[in-house]
Formats: sequence, structure tokens, C-alpha cells
Amino acid sequence: MKFARSLVTTVLASASCVSAFSPKAARAVSSPALFTSSSRTFKSTALNAQVPKLSDPQSNLLDNVDVFIFDCDGVIWRGDSLIDGIPETLDKLRAAGKKMFFVTNNSTKSRAGYKKKFDSLGLDIPPEEIFSSSFAAAAYLEQTKFKDTGKKVYIIGEVGICDELDLIDVPWIGGPNDKGKEPDMGPGGKLEHDKDVGAVIVGFDRHVNYYKIQSAQLCINENPGCEFIATNLDAVTHLTDAQEWAGNGSMVGAIKGCTGKEPTVVGKPSPLMIDYLEEKLNLDKSRICMVGDRLDTDVLFGTDNGLKTVLVLSGVTSEEKLLSEENKITPDFYADDINAFFDS
Ligand SMILES: [Mg+2]
Repeated sequence: MKFARSLVTTVLASASCVSAFSPKAARAVSSPALFTSSSRTFKSTALNAQVPKLSDPQSNLLDNVDVFIFDCDGVIWRGDSLIDGIPETLDKLRAAGKKMFFVTNNSTKSRAGYKKKFDSLGLDIPPEEIFSSSFAAAAYLEQTKFKDTGKKVYIIGEVGICDELDLIDVPWIGGPNDKGKEPDMGPGGKLEHDKDVGAVIVGFDRHVNYYKIQSAQLCINENPGCEFIATNLDAVTHLTDAQEWAGNGSMVGAIKGCTGKEPTVVGKPSPLMIDYLEEKLNLDKSRICMVGDRLDTDVLFGTDNGLKTVLVLSGVTSEEKLLSEENKITPDFYADDINAFFDS
């Protein structure tokens, strides 16, 4: 499914964007086991040579790229800590005339929320350069003229999605308001769902519960035409640096399991961002470079959309995992971090 260019243009006028679901990408993301390499299987073989490191003298990235799309966590910051040298490197890129955008699949914050995070880290990033999957969900609804239906949205997710829907005046229920609720599951008990819900958005939710799952199930299964929208399908996320935590793929999986429906995915690796940038900047895709720390979302997002790709080792992916024969997703380059853009 791909949205008509005229619609995209309409959305651009309001600084929004739209997604198209990529079944190919979604299938790849739903198979994270592909990337779970281990030291037992690591072999430094021919693949090593196929993924050049940016520090190689012959690497020539900057001359061939006009726009950089940066994933945030693991590229710009780790948790709440800015990665060393990032402000200076971003300044150098701007001075070199490069455009840049900052993309995150984390839907728990709105764009305004992320702007505050950039500010708190001392990075002065214009709001229009920030794309969160919470914004992408709202932009999708705007693109598809959901508001004209007069329906409301049921949210599994946190305040980021709520705030973005408020900005486009789309009514919503659920989300943080259903934290801690329990349906009546005694004899004859039932949960009354809202018949006016026309879309369910599922984003990462630290307070997901059976009440929310049942509400979403009833809306999707019983409300005619109710859409099922996922901000992303990330298998794991990094709530703390002590371990990996179940990501939004687990919340989306719960709703898939009880509805038998596939969601429309609006975050990476769906082509939302690329359709937007291609239209707005009239750019050759081959001169856009996706920079991220994950193979299964960031690099896949880039390769699926015809972009240049750089994997940085400053986040969750190790050099060992990248170069493992088990890994089938290869970036054009890899680097220790984005400071390497100016090291060669
Ligand atoms: Mg990341």
C-alpha cells in the first residue's frame, strides 16, 4: 500500500507525514532471532571486507550524502547521557551544509517531549527535525482524514501518543487513563467497549494490562472498520542498561494474537520518513544516509528504502554481531560512533 503523492503533498503543508505499511520490512523485523549471534558463531571471514569501516582511508561518505537521518538512542545519546563529541560533530555536519533529521521508534514521548530531551542534553535541535513514532501515528491519522469520521482512538501506550493526538484534535480514550484498571471477570461479567472507536493505536506501554488488551480486542473485532495501528514492532527496548526489556512488539503481538489482524506500522522500518523527505526536499534517495545502532530497524529501514546506511557501534550492536555470518543485514559502512564521519 502506498499513499498517493497528492495526499503526501497535502500533509507536507501542515508539516506532517504519512506512512505506508511495509509487509516485507515487518516480516524481517518479526524475526529477531536472525540477529542473535554469539561468540560461538563469530567468524572473521569475507563479510568483514564487505562492510568497510569508516576509518578506512578510502571511505568517502560525506561527499555522497546530503541528508543524514539519525536514530537517537545509541547514536546521539545512551539513556540520558549524551555520547562524547556529538555536539561538535553535528555542528561540523551543519557547517558542511548537511541536513539532518532525528528519528526514534520510542512513542512514549511526543515531539515536544523529545525537544525537551535534546534541550536537556544541550543540543539545540529544531522541532521540525524530530520524528517520533508517536508523531508518525498522528500523522497517519491526519493523512487518512480520520478526524472526518467523527470517531475516536483507543490507545495502548503512553503520553507521547496522547499529546500528538491532542495536537490534531483527534479524541482518544485509554492510554494512561486505563492504568491499573481491571475488567469485571466474575460470573456474567463483561467489559463495555466504546462503539465509537475507529482506530486502536498500540505503542510501548509500561502499564499495559488485561483491561487494555480486552478493550483493544473488542474495538478491533466488533467495531466495523476499526483500524489497528502499531507505532513499531521493536522486539526489545532498553528501559535500563542492566538488561534488554520486552519492546512494543510484545504489546502489538498481544493484539495480533486476539484479533488475527496485522497492524499498519508507522515507525521504522516502514517508509514513512522517506516518503516525507523525498517529497519535501526533492532529494535523490541515494544521497540520504540512515545512521543507527540496530540492524533490524535502522539498517533495514535504510536498505529497504534505497538509502545509504551506517551502523554505529555506540549502541546495542557489537562489531562481532555485525560481522557474524549469521547476520544477513549489512550496512554500507560501520563506525565506532558518528564522530568517525570526520576522522577519515
Ligand atoms: Mg537506537
